[in-house]
Amino acid sequence: MKLITSLLTAAAISVASFAVPALAQDKGTVGISMPTKTSTRWISDGETMEKLFKEAGYEPDLQFADDDIPNQLAQIENMVTKGAKVLVIGAIDGTTLSDILAKAHDAGVKVIAYDRLIRDSANVDYYATFDNFQVGVLQATSLVDGLKAKFGDVKPWNVELFGGSPDDNNAFFFYDGAMSVLQPLIDSGDIVIKSGQQGMDQVGTLRWDGAVAQARMENLLSSTYTDAQVNGVLSPYDGLSIGILSALKGVGYGSGDMPMPVVTGQDAELPSVKSILADEQFSTVFKDTRELAKVTVGMVNALMDGKEPEVNDTKTYDNGVKVVPSYLLKPVAADKSNVKDILVGSGYYTEDQINN
Ligand code: BGC
Repeated sequence: MKLITSLLTAAAISVASFAVPALAQDKGTVGISMPTKTSTRWISDGETMEKLFKEAGYEPDLQFADDDIPNQLAQIENMVTKGAKVLVIGAIDGTTLSDILAKAHDAGVKVIAYDRLIRDSANVDYYATFDNFQVGVLQATSLVDGLKAKFGDVKPWNVELFGGSPDDNNAFFFYDGAMSVLQPLIDSGDIVIKSGQQGMDQVGTLRWDGAVAQARMENLLSSTYTDAQVNGVLSPYDGLSIGILSALKGVGYGSGDMPMPVVTGQDAELPSVKSILADEQFSTVFKDTRELAKVTVGMVNALMDGKEPEVNDTKTYDNGVKVVPSYLLKPVAADKSNVKDILVGSGYYTEDQINN
């Protein structure tokens, strides 16, 4: 009887293992290392990937590194030790990963740089991102449009420049893209950088920290704008824009005879979308993180099937060791005239989220 029972059990197990459709886990683990939760975009990137990887039959291991480099290294190391087949990494500092990626490579792990290029390593297989130079072009174009609309012929326009984190390769692309639009206007005298602070070494904002941007804006206002007004601020990211706006409001901009300067941004974060609708922040750049996640999952699927992932750029992103084949998505400029349509229309936010 005992024998029969165990034979039956064995049969049931083997039938079950044939009859049950592929288990969600059987394509292996994908380590998803995101830099931080302080900006909602990264939460959305991570969670969308988690969902899509699950649907595609992988077991995602999603970790956020709290903008702490040793933390990110430890999390990635752990993913490799636990046998991840692929790593998808949004780096905090794109230059710190060479050693751990060498280990990953030795273990046969494929690596995708997510949104931010990983530098100084041969062990980066693909890069999924947006057209980062174009992001800067859109920011500066909207800054100039805003200056024309708000300050018309009263030239020169006083502008201050903010850059992103100098350890993030994207920050240079945003800045260079923006300067491709602004430099000719600086040269012609239409725009004056009154503080004289220009170049990523002078205007960069470590770790994209809004409080750092706010403090720098406060300094600029008290050192340079005691008897002049600032008309525009190039800001590369919504989190910085909110800090900059707070410094501006703190000394009276946005009321009386101190019109709010034109302040740009990026990521269409909710506080900034609301600020745009309230006529404070002027614009943002929307990058649909759901699309980036989709492209990334597609890359992983192709790699795991032994195929070449689709790319649309093979020359821009030289990481210092190799040119990483990339897929670039299109960023979209958004201001008060279209921000609601774009974000609610695409289902990125609900009307309620924006209004409340
Ligand atoms: C991303 C931006 C983001 C910034 C700060 C950059 O690498 O491309 O979308 O605004 O990091 O998180």
